Amino acid sequence: MTGIAVHGGAGTLDRAAMTPEAEALYRSALQEALLAGDALLKSGASAIDAVIAAVKVLEDCPLFNAGKGAVFTHNKTHELDASLMCGKTLKAGAVAGIAGVPNPIVLAREVMDHSEHVLLCGKGAEDFARHRGFQFQPESYFHTDFRYNQLLQVIHEEGAFLDHSVSTSPPDKKFGTVGAVARDVQGNLAAATSTGGMTNKRWGRAGDSPIIGAGTYANNNTCAVSCTGHGEFFIRSVVAYDLSCLMEYKGLSLEQACHEVVNKKLVERGGEGGLIAIDALGNICLPFNSTGMYRGWKYIDSEPFTAIY
Ligand code: ASP
Repeated sequence: MTGIAVHGGAGTLDRAAMTPEAEALYRSALQEALLAGDALLKSGASAIDAVIAAVKVLEDCPLFNAGKGAVFTHNKTHELDASLMCGKTLKAGAVAGIAGVPNPIVLAREVMDHSEHVLLCGKGAEDFARHRGFQFQPESYFHTDFRYNQLLQVIHEEGAFLDHSVSTSPPDKKFGTVGAVARDVQGNLAAATSTGGMTNKRWGRAGDSPIIGAGTYANNNTCAVSCTGHGEFFIRSVVAYDLSCLMEYKGLSLEQACHEVVNKKLVERGGEGGLIAIDALGNICLPFNSTGMYRGWKYIDSEPFTAIY
């Protein structure tokens, strides 16, 4: 089966405070992302092209914590992370801690296709973007008042926070790291993830999203995975690769592997979050252990579905 799934972040989402209007906005953004990827899959494009198109829609949408609308660091700046992987070639590209690039996922692809490296960080990644002709945007492009107020709520605390789990944040506002996974008509898999990371992060902190094997992984033999949640736990548990390994080495189905990783291992270790995954046959799973995860999925010949809780 050919299909695509997207997420817009997982975390502590307060159902009682979600208005029907806000819910409709989230669902329509997720649907727009699904349809952007789906249109490419229908035209015979690759899974990589489809996941990038879907993630770009979510990066451009200020509702989500990626690209425009990303969370603020402790220094009141934006540091963006993104990665992608092709399940056919096992090639991957990633960027971490970059500023000014409106679509970090496109830069991650540039790293994959036009450098000999996998992960470029900070100023070096920005220099590479300039070298490849990328347009930069001022900080004001990424600014949203909601994210700024979220930072002010926690700026005097030590830790970094999942944007959607800042306790007093009204859930009818803007949450979520974004990602997409797809299987194309040739049977190739791909995964992509993009984020502003965690509110109030400092010291150049990077989470799981730009780390291949932790936040993103794709292998045609098993599955394509994009994660969202408390990145430190996802890095330590090598979540995306672990899911693939459970299928490859232990022969688990996608559903069994998702249950093992998200509802057992991560829960035992205290890791809040979820993931989206598609296997070599096109089966889609969207497990999470938090109260909600913005998510959507669509098979090439079906209607798009979206859900939050
Ligand atoms: N996983 C991301 C990080 O830790 C955050 C998120 O998924 O919202 O940077």
